[in-house]
Amino acid sequence: MKPSTKQKALLFCTVCGHKSPPGGDWVETETETELGNRLTLSCPECSTAVTRRPLDTKSVDAVVIAD
Ligand SMILES: [Zn+2]
Repeated sequence: MKPSTKQKALLFCTVCGHKSPPGGDWVETETETELGNRLTLSCPECSTAVTRRPLDTKSVDAVVIAD
């Protein structure tokens, strides 16, 4: 058996301790910001916002000045 080199990412709610992978049972909310739409993941048990990430994962937060 091969040892797994891939660590499964788990998001963790610091308020109630709920754990789930990013694609798990988190409540996803789209939020419009100046930088574009963001996806907010909230805990299904206590509604705490756990993480935010850009909808387009290829984009970055920094403003890139390019021609
Ligand atoms: Zn929670």
